[in-house]
Amino acid sequence: MKKFFLALLLVVIVIVAILFVKTSSFKSKQIAPVDGKRKELPVDETAVKHLSDAIKINTVSQDDTAIVNQAAFDSFFAFLKTEYAPVFQNLEDTIINQRSLLLKWKGKNESVKPVILYAHLDVVPIEESTKAKWTHEPFSGEVADGFIWGRGALDDKGSLVSIFEALKRLQAKNFVPERTVYFAFGSDEEIGGKKGAAEIAEYLRAQKVNFEFYMDEGGMVSEGIVPNIKRPVALIGTAEKGYVTLELTANVKGGHSSHPPKESALDVITSAIKKLHDNPEAPRTVETVKEFLEFVGPEMPQPVKTVFANRWLFGPLILKEYEKSDEGRALLRTTEVATILNAGIKENVIPSLVSAKVNFRILNDEIAKQVIERAAKTIDDTLVKITAGELNEPSRNSSSSTYGFKLLQQTSAEVFPDAIVTPFLMLGSTDSKHFQDITENTYRFFPVRMDKEIMGTIHGINERIGVKDYMETISFYETMLLNIR
Ligand SMILES: [Zn+2]
Repeated sequence: MKKFFLALLLVVIVIVAILFVKTSSFKSKQIAPVDGKRKELPVDETAVKHLSDAIKINTVSQDDTAIVNQAAFDSFFAFLKTEYAPVFQNLEDTIINQRSLLLKWKGKNESVKPVILYAHLDVVPIEESTKAKWTHEPFSGEVADGFIWGRGALDDKGSLVSIFEALKRLQAKNFVPERTVYFAFGSDEEIGGKKGAAEIAEYLRAQKVNFEFYMDEGGMVSEGIVPNIKRPVALIGTAEKGYVTLELTANVKGGHSSHPPKESALDVITSAIKKLHDNPEAPRTVETVKEFLEFVGPEMPQPVKTVFANRWLFGPLILKEYEKSDEGRALLRTTEVATILNAGIKENVIPSLVSAKVNFRILNDEIAKQVIERAAKTIDDTLVKITAGELNEPSRNSSSSTYGFKLLQQTSAEVFPDAIVTPFLMLGSTDSKHFQDITENTYRFFPVRMDKEIMGTIHGINERIGVKDYMETISFYETMLLNIR
């Protein structure tokens, strides 16, 4: 018995020693801020008016691609050309496919690879039933209570106009960047980017341009979002999940509902949906999520820090925590959810043809083909025909040790000195997918502070950006362009 306790004691001592060593070598990956002061620009009323005016121009993307308000896009470009005339004088501009814009700012050193900043100028429509819930008209661009209100304030005109403001400020200083910088503005991100981003990328591909890095919307300077961290966290999306929609169809003889068959087409499809729902993938951490844990872990208070430093022991505990939230679960697996069901025309007629759409978001360690094969195996029903619709493979992981990531980290340390910076996995999709083959490094980051409430207004009600936050965004782009070497 004594021997057993001695052995147990030894095991405990060894474990404690490993925990200690691992924790003390779990070093911060943050850059020390220069002076710790926030680089706040005084509120520039003209800049505020510019974003407000940009929101007023209704550049909505409709799901029905036949409906395009070309006049709105024309007036958006007219607005840019008038308000940012010096930018258009000094940069080369090209309109692509009528509604997208590409600017090229020639740098001093043409032997280094150029970089590209991207934003989209289209917005999502306002749901009719929510119109009355807006505090200020969604396309009013009203400035009130310290905010600029309206659709696109955050997604993504806030970013687009901030880029122009930064450019305007740099033109006034006669600044010329070291490296060539491209600015691309797509017109249909909200419906997949096929006519905008894809065409811009095609144009650049034809010119054989290859970028050091590409920057797009995505993460933000989040406040109160990352568990166990009090400081703001600048989330830089270094990868995004893939996307595939499967259509499930069953064609079973229908008829009168007074003498139903054992299994109708509707039964077949709902049972297939249930099987998919009841068999989620096992949780796991992919490269990007591991990196995220490596970046945020060292910033956590004890004893959480020890837990994150010792994932060899506490890994399952961390996974269990992540499983508690919808976002957490989505980081750990390919998700699926049924989104559309087409069935039935009359209450006493059994429908013979039933179809459903199930949307999958593919985790970055697998490809669509594997997801489709697994779905077929899980459903295991010859009556269900499966066809793949819209499909984007998951992106690769962009490194956090590149020039581009470090530039973003450095700039963030200057403009948001109170924030920590981390790579993270994007659950949604951006236009960056269209540029994957013309750059090694893709970073998805909209440099603006957002708490949970503000984040919830994106694609929702009362979308708005804080006037001071907007000034910080301008400052970020300006500082970043000044920092580019
Ligand atoms: Zn967007």
